[in-house]
Amino acid sequence: MRTSPDYGKVIEQIYKDLNQWERTGKVADYIPVLAEVDPNHYGISVQTLAGESFHIGDTKTTFSIQSISKVFTLALVFHHLGEDLWKSVGREPSGTPFNSLIQLESEQGIPRNPMINAGALVVTDRLLNYFQDPKEELLSFVRCVSNNPNVGYDERVAASELENSDRNRALAHFMKSYGNIHNEVDALMDAYCHQCSLKMNTEDLAKSFQVLVNHGTNPWTGNQLLTLSQAKRLGAVLMTCGFYDESGDFAFRVGMPGKSGVGGGVVAYIPNVLSIAVWSPALNPHGNSTLGIETLERFTTMIGDSVF
Ligand code: GLN
Repeated sequence: MRTSPDYGKVIEQIYKDLNQWERTGKVADYIPVLAEVDPNHYGISVQTLAGESFHIGDTKTTFSIQSISKVFTLALVFHHLGEDLWKSVGREPSGTPFNSLIQLESEQGIPRNPMINAGALVVTDRLLNYFQDPKEELLSFVRCVSNNPNVGYDERVAASELENSDRNRALAHFMKSYGNIHNEVDALMDAYCHQCSLKMNTEDLAKSFQVLVNHGTNPWTGNQLLTLSQAKRLGAVLMTCGFYDESGDFAFRVGMPGKSGVGGGVVAYIPNVLSIAVWSPALNPHGNSTLGIETLERFTTMIGDSVF
């Protein structure tokens, strides 16, 4: 039997090699508060299902998780709505940027997948259908999966995104005209901008993906939050759509399902084995962390493991 690699040594080596890299790419600036973040932050956290964790660099500093939050809303809504969800949103890679409007007209307001903004807006809209206080509900879900009761929203980031939400509002109004958004766009924007503003560090993020490593059962509480089939489907969506129009390249280079956010966070996992979160705020033209992806590529190469 294979002994498991020394994950601590592996991330230490990667950190040492890559921390001296010039940070190519740029910090997201279309949400003004995100433009204030220092691009030199770099942290890596690994959490194994066996209960070990390894950290190096800026792993205690919280940052805006942005689109990584789409995974949590999807998990929560999928759990409640079940397979009906797929009547309102597809599960096919879009091949377009995360905030693109282009396919929505020819596809009658049904977004390609829940990871692009249009799809995530539909999912968050359903959260509003289900819960009196969707923001509170999402927060307690995230606190529960990350095993950290202190996770919270960053009101400054939420306000900054709300003030600059014309593109997302356009997506929401357009889908509402097809009947695929049920709630008022203002209420939807408030919930969506808050979910994107969730503040977490890489330690929290690595922990929070353990529910997927563990096929839908939250290892921190023992509660089943997704069925086996739902956990499989969610993983498949992350594998094919988690990095927008860079999803194929991410799968090719890294070989794990995962999700990025424009705050510079990236999380990925190998079922049964581990989850890994990286934070480096400088983004490539697809809106994904340049160093984050490089880190993950080196990680799976060095440990000789992936989902393939
Ligand atoms: N809040 C961001 C937006 O809606 C999230 C995008 C992202 O992280 N890719 O534009």
